[in-house]
Amino acid sequence: MIHYYQLNDIAKISSPSCEGCGECCRGMGESIELDPYDSFQLAEGLGARFADLINNEIALHSENGIILPHIVMKDVSDACSFLNPDGRCSIHSFRPGICRLYPLSRKYTEDGIRYFIQPDACSGHSLVKIKIRNYLQIQEYGKYEAFKWNWFHFLKDAEAAVVSDTDVSSGTKLGFFVLETFFLRPYDGGDFYSTVDKRIKRARHYLGL
Ligand code: SF4
Ligand code: SF4
Repeated sequence: MIHYYQLNDIAKISSPSCEGCGECCRGMGESIELDPYDSFQLAEGLGARFADLINNEIALHSENGIILPHIVMKDVSDACSFLNPDGRCSIHSFRPGICRLYPLSRKYTEDGIRYFIQPDACSGHSLVKIKIRNYLQIQEYGKYEAFKWNWFHFLKDAEAAVVSDTDVSSGTKLGFFVLETFFLRPYDGGDFYSTVDKRIKRARHYLGL
């Protein structure tokens, strides 16, 4: 049975003895999906415009009609574009939230966000106990979690709007609207969380959600 944790719970997930074989950064397909915070962090960390990373390290996929970005696995090695030759993450300090969570995943429940250990997570080294909040090492975690909650529910509502739109060209436009509003438009200056919050409110208004 899956055990669900809360942020301040202690779980056996820390891997100080991880030898960096890099296996957990290979063969991930389109699953390293990015959210707006990831795109903001990547652009800041790499000193690049997020739009300029698309078609190189970042590719796009459709999730129920909404166009979203994910990290590219390289053709031959099937390794993440950011995995260095030593089998280590070259963007470790600003890696995407999905990678930061590993071996955990997040579940959105009626009672709020819960965490669980992925059933197929690496067990090739000894794990030690750590408080989940400390493991994630995200500054202003309260704001981050509020953003994740809002983003999750916004995406669900936007996906439902696209799926129920019988006009194909209008549905396609809505799908790209999310990409343009939350990923391609830079988060220059100011506070990321207040900026993205305003964008979510405006997008909800625009989409009639
Ligand atoms: S967590 Fe496991 S699979 Fe990932 S790099 Fe470390 S040893 Fe390899
Ligand atoms: S971004 Fe870093 S941690 Fe995430 S899959 Fe790529 S190399 Fe691994």
